[in-house]
Amino acid sequence: MKEDNKDVQLLKKELWARRTTAKITMIGRKTTADKNNRIKEIRRNNTREKEVVQTLEKKDGLTWEEDGVVYMEGRIYVPNNKKIREEILKENHDSVDVGHLGQHRMLELLKRMYWWPGLKEDVKKYIQRCFKCQQNKVQYQRKVGELHPLEILQGSWQEISIDIIGPLPKLNGIDAMVVIVDRFTKMI
Ligand SMILES: [Zn+2]
Repeated sequence: MKEDNKDVQLLKKELWARRTTAKITMIGRKTTADKNNRIKEIRRNNTREKEVVQTLEKKDGLTWEEDGVVYMEGRIYVPNNKKIREEILKENHDSVDVGHLGQHRMLELLKRMYWWPGLKEDVKKYIQRCFKCQQNKVQYQRKVGELHPLEILQGSWQEISIDIIGPLPKLNGIDAMVVIVDRFTKMI
């Protein structure tokens, strides 16, 4: 009886492993298809920034053109097209399998495959525009604030805390917020 159970368990394990492999293969296929579509899109939008054209002319062996696509040290150069760049940034930041990476890790991930002038700046700006990341930042700042022990106060508006939160996505020319809290009444 015990032996039987062992067999069943082994079989289950094997099935599970097989299912996992199948899933990975499917994800792999999807990524390849997405990548091919993206390359087609890049080929169609072949507007090249001056900097890229100049580097290409140098023929330094680090930058080359293949099938209408420019490679910079093996990375695909993404032309100056807002839609394509935005899609790539999104894919490397808020997709389910990436999950809101910080600036450094997002840049690392992106650079495995793509490159364009000002990529680092664009990554920084993208995160600053990401609502979820900004929300997490504010929550984190609040938690840090709570760790400091406070004295007991006698009356209202004797001691206040001022938090400047920003930069936030620009709205009507405003990109930061000042939060003033009275420590006695907690009035904001
Ligand atoms: Zn985010």
